[in-house]
Amino acid sequence: MEVFKEIKPLKAYLNDQRLQGNSVGLVPTMGALHQGHISLIQASKLQNQITICSIYVNPAQFNNPDDLLKYPRTLEKDNELLKQIGCDAVFCPDNNEMYPEPSIINIDFGSLGTVMEGKFRPGHFSGVALVLSKFFHIIKPDHAYFGQKDWQQFAIVQKLVDELMFDLTLHRVETLREKDGLAMSSRNQRLNAVEREKAVVFYQSLIMAKGALQAGYEIKDVIEIITKDFNRQGVRLEYFEVVDSKNLNVLNSVKGGVNQPIMCIAGYVGEVRLIDNMFLD
Ligand code: AMP
Repeated sequence: MEVFKEIKPLKAYLNDQRLQGNSVGLVPTMGALHQGHISLIQASKLQNQITICSIYVNPAQFNNPDDLLKYPRTLEKDNELLKQIGCDAVFCPDNNEMYPEPSIINIDFGSLGTVMEGKFRPGHFSGVALVLSKFFHIIKPDHAYFGQKDWQQFAIVQKLVDELMFDLTLHRVETLREKDGLAMSSRNQRLNAVEREKAVVFYQSLIMAKGALQAGYEIKDVIEIITKDFNRQGVRLEYFEVVDSKNLNVLNSVKGGVNQPIMCIAGYVGEVRLIDNMFLD
């Protein structure tokens, strides 16, 4: 497996691959890899001759400095794992490589970026879009793979690719879960044993909400039940929203045939912020 910390040799390697007619799949990550990430790599390996995984904790997408500082970093272990599953190349640049000058660009996604994560993490999606635009220009992947777990991110990246006409196809990979249903996340490493047990409330709430909404409950009543469940566990609910999965418009009701509604949830277990989602249908 090739490991690149710098852009120039990475570009030379990729040019060479393209000359040989090899298609390139990109899996962007922030490292601390788990099986969820690995499923993205595997999806890419099925469709491309060359799979490249980027590992970069992008400061531009963190609005909370403490969160950035405490984000788990396990590069050696990550590279070992990637090697074992047959990833072809890793790009793990440092901040000087990605941001030789402080960035002044701000990317606004209108209503897609003001709900849910956008409301609680100002600037987050601008930072995500900035670093992904850089990766897309540097790597020029034919395909890029993202997890459903970050649904709003997926919708926003799709918009970025469409509007800026990046010549690549995006793929969505289903969320991989632990046995008790907790969505796999690098942040789970930061939970202590008690917090880890409590964290299952996110998944349980989504399951409960799905059943209740399908049975005809109103969204506001479901939010009330979830808020009580979270309070009982001592877990802080940030939001539970049901949105149109395409345009992310927040829904007040799912009665009357809304196109593919998705339930999205976020909150804090102790100091650790977790998100999850589930389609209603
Ligand atoms: P991250 O390293 O958290 O930025 O995630 C990198 C990519 O992996 C993103 O596209 C995520 O949506 C995806 N991902 C994270 N957790 C999971 C999971 N449990 N199952 C599938 N994909 C995931």
